Amino acid sequence: MNTSTVSAPNSALETYEQVAAASNEVAGLLAKRLKTETQGEVLFSAADRGRYATDASIYQVTPLGVFVPKHPEEVATAMAICRDLKVPIVPRGGGTSQCGQTTGVGLVIDHSKHVRNVLNLDLQAGTVEVQPGIALDALNASLKKHGVWFPVDVSTSAQATLGGMAGNNSCGSRSIAYGNMVHNVLGAKAWLSNGELLDFSHFENSSGRAKQIGEFVKQLAVHHQAELQNKWPKVLRRVAGYNLDIFDNQNVRPYTPDGKVNLSHLLVGSEGTLAMTQSLTLKLSELPRSKVLGVVNFNSFYKAMDSAQHIAKLGNGTLTAVELVDRTMIELSLKIPAFAATIRTAIIGDPEAILLVEFAGSDKEQLKRELKQLVALMGDMGLPNSVVEMVDDAPQKNLWEVRKAGLNIMMSLKGDGKPVSFIEDCAVPLEHLAEYTDALTQVFQKHGSKGTWYAHASVGTLHVRPILDMRRDGPQKMRAIAEEASELVRKYKGAYSGEHGDGLCRGEWIEWQFGPAINQAFAQIKQHLDPLNLLSPNRMVNPPKMDDTSLMRFGNNYKIIPIQTALDWSAWNVHNDPATEQTTAPGTGQDPAQGLAKAVEMCNNNGTCRKFDAGTMCPSFRVTRDEVHATRGRANTLRLALSGQLQGGLESSEVKEALDLCVGCKGCKRDCPTGVDMARMKIEVQHHYNTKHGLPLKDTLISNLPRYAHIASQWPRLMNLRNQWPWLARLAESFTGLSAERSWPEWKKEHFFNSQRTGVSAQEVLASSKPVVLFVDTFNGYFESENAWAAFDVLSAAGYQVHIASRTQQDAPGQHLCCGRTYLASGQVSKAKEHAQALLEALLPFAQKGIAIVGLEPSCLLTLRDESLVMGLGEMAETVAAHAVLFEEFLATENKAGKLESLKTKLAPAQKPILLHGHCHQKAFGLMPSITQVIQLIPQAKVDLIESSCCGMAGSFGYEASHLEVSKQMAEASLLPSIRKQQDACVVADGTSCRHQIMDGTAREAMHVALLLAQHLPK
Ligand SMILES: Cc1cc2nc3c(=O)[nH]c(=O)nc-3n(C[C@H](O)[C@H](O)[C@H](O)COP(=O)(O)OP(=O)(O)OC[C@H]3O[C@@H](n4cnc5c(N)ncnc54)[C@H](O)[C@@H]3O)c2cc1C
Ligand code: SF4
Ligand code: SF4
Repeated sequence: MNTSTVSAPNSALETYEQVAAASNEVAGLLAKRLKTETQGEVLFSAADRGRYATDASIYQVTPLGVFVPKHPEEVATAMAICRDLKVPIVPRGGGTSQCGQTTGVGLVIDHSKHVRNVLNLDLQAGTVEVQPGIALDALNASLKKHGVWFPVDVSTSAQATLGGMAGNNSCGSRSIAYGNMVHNVLGAKAWLSNGELLDFSHFENSSGRAKQIGEFVKQLAVHHQAELQNKWPKVLRRVAGYNLDIFDNQNVRPYTPDGKVNLSHLLVGSEGTLAMTQSLTLKLSELPRSKVLGVVNFNSFYKAMDSAQHIAKLGNGTLTAVELVDRTMIELSLKIPAFAATIRTAIIGDPEAILLVEFAGSDKEQLKRELKQLVALMGDMGLPNSVVEMVDDAPQKNLWEVRKAGLNIMMSLKGDGKPVSFIEDCAVPLEHLAEYTDALTQVFQKHGSKGTWYAHASVGTLHVRPILDMRRDGPQKMRAIAEEASELVRKYKGAYSGEHGDGLCRGEWIEWQFGPAINQAFAQIKQHLDPLNLLSPNRMVNPPKMDDTSLMRFGNNYKIIPIQTALDWSAWNVHNDPATEQTTAPGTGQDPAQGLAKAVEMCNNNGTCRKFDAGTMCPSFRVTRDEVHATRGRANTLRLALSGQLQGGLESSEVKEALDLCVGCKGCKRDCPTGVDMARMKIEVQHHYNTKHGLPLKDTLISNLPRYAHIASQWPRLMNLRNQWPWLARLAESFTGLSAERSWPEWKKEHFFNSQRTGVSAQEVLASSKPVVLFVDTFNGYFESENAWAAFDVLSAAGYQVHIASRTQQDAPGQHLCCGRTYLASGQVSKAKEHAQALLEALLPFAQKGIAIVGLEPSCLLTLRDESLVMGLGEMAETVAAHAVLFEEFLATENKAGKLESLKTKLAPAQKPILLHGHCHQKAFGLMPSITQVIQLIPQAKVDLIESSCCGMAGSFGYEASHLEVSKQMAEASLLPSIRKQQDACVVADGTSCRHQIMDGTAREAMHVALLLAQHLPK
């Protein structure tokens, strides 16, 4: 099938013609009918199909097309069309499966955008009925006020959908207390591939076709009783194959409290191969009111593993988790400033491993007693004083965060070798855990790799991913390790697939696990429910080999197209050693795209960028919920473009479309577990795109603003006419694309750069005992000079001698400096470099003397610590970056050193509550604590941080007519409503564009923190 592009067509006929020409006749007909018969999104372009060709596994299978139903009943319509055209169907939720379950050749049906409602909540019965596309966190957020939750707490709770969780029979960290999905699903309404909609619930009460299916499966269970009892792993965590044992329970925990058969359990874990779920009825649990945590420190990993079986017996029903963090993860966490302090609160000395043992319930006193039992048990086991007891909520929460972050760091290994998930969830009975982990570690060593162990010690499911290079000998090693691991699993009577399901990766191991007879029974179940073989064919039944490289993302034909990059990506262009995890020097990784491709390939599709909780990533996805507008969709589009799987490469319209709504907030740089930095990638891509297609007028106007600002500011009345005459604004919109609805920043004749007030000279500051250099950017300098003056006043009031940085070049001595950000925003890297160079040259002498360079606008100042370092500006950039700080960072550090005592005595008490909105780049650099601390220098200041993502203005993004609506929606997601809610508060926002958005959306004037402090100084 060729991969030529299909742009968004309008009519069904056009759809047909385009799709048929690009793919084939069937694809054309399928797209046409979907377009005619539904209101859903019909995504058949090469880029869309490529974006849905992968999940969080190593596989890639390009589907015929993608359908995103707008209404739930359209799923049935799409299925009917597929039936007519004999096109296979691949159901999909968040696409976070690790084994390739959602990759397939047919029509992918994505439920996560629209099919995500809570249908019925029955608190008395303790049940909820939901549509399959709802994410677990979204469901639990809606249940919280009722004191209940759905307790299958998978790590991907923010992005995993209930449909996907049921599909995979997912299991959470607390499965020892609550069981797996199969223990918590009470019913499912689902379509068979022939279109019948069935109610799968209690077998006893069922009728019609559902009853008949039940009878059929029961017969099979009876027929295979001996095999079932001999071959079925007797552990909690077995998710392979179909749940034939619902009629003869082999799980250590009964599927139902009364032992009666629930037919929905047949669908749980069937990975979309038996039926398409329309809704699920779930059992709710009470939210635990109290939790305590005991952190057991071990000086041997083996001992930790050996102890799990004894710890698991504690708690009198209150034990909810026993989670492992091994030595490697402890060390990684200790290296991160943000987590070092927390992990230190949990460790005693230098442990080889720790176990996080959680007890939860309604009575804290009882839980404390259980904690004492843990201490006593460890004492009896020869480990006195090995338990750190955490009774308060905050330290417990912090420690769980560290446990998650450790995994993220492990995943961020640069180079072609990656931790690969294929035996990551084998489950063994607890009494064999120590021997199993020991033996498997030796297997890794034998194959020149190593694994970091973590997670669910309570249920014998430890996660481990050996590092393999899937472009080279990875597939062979994967096979060899899998075979040895499976022998161990068999020896210890465990389950080879204990959490993540079968998919492409473990399909072939189903027969190995259960034997040919039960495997045949599974095939009969598939045939009985889906005789047309339409639902994800060749997965759980007749699967391909796990190491079939033609199905892999980095298969045999994967090649990167050579390109010359504008930015320096060499930090990613490395090789790594799987055994030591050491990487080679930057630039040695042989990436034909000079490291850009390897940076893009860091995305492993885990889908964290689809989350909606705190944090910044990803504002555009939060508004559109489109795969193309998630960081993952963008990274996948770039990977396809760089590897020649998308015609036109980086200069194609598909790449432009994927990056169009990226606001460059750098949220992903911080929040993405593998550090995919899409903001930087967008600069690179725009460079390539604009080099080929030319720079739009709006970008020329905006990027050159620092160049013409000194002239424009001399004609403020003329320049501001556009804001006063609506017709002029409309005219301007028609040729610049900048929305007439937005006001532009007001020019002023008197501004910071032409004011009479000056700081000390360069010589004076270099000789000063309390020196600081103030870098005033174009925006604060020309449009909001009061902020620059305020910063100057506050620093002076604190006793600093302030030098205002200005150009030193012969051609423009004394003129204002610019970091080049406006050029970067449109990919003009060489022009940005010119400006950055002038700035660095001016700042270098001060940085060399160790003097702090203080800036006000986060996006400008932080350019010195980010993009300036990758523009080929050499050591000078490193030296300046080491001393470039935001105003509040500087003050927070100085305060810690006790240098602000005199300033503090001068500040008058706060009169109003303070609402704080963080600029995305402040958040990306983890700087929000410093601004909070600085506000608290004001006596009686009460500051509330608004939990918001990007404000939506993002430089010029929100000014553009084509982005206006999305920009407003981003702001309305939480920022503006929070401000409207607190009418009496003073709003602090350091970003120029954030302040503008707040003014436009709420008519409230937000202020820079420097101005806030200055207003509390004596007049
Ligand atoms: C970093 C990471 C951590 C993880 N941690 C855990 C963990 O703690 N516990 C755990 O169990 N798993 C974990 N997983 C695996 C994965 O996140 C879970 O299995 C998750 O529940 C999948 O949800 P999803 O919405 O992404 O489903 P998808 O991947 O989209 O789909 C899962 C399966 O369900 C099927 N399906 C989806 N919707 C329907 C429908 N409407 N009808 C029928 N079938 C459907 C799909 O075809 C597929 O077979 C992890 C994965 C990653 C990447
Ligand atoms: S961009 Fe980051 S968060 Fe999103 S899927 Fe890729 S790796 Fe995960
Ligand atoms: S920079 Fe921001 S908008 Fe762009 S992909 Fe990353 S999180 Fe999303």
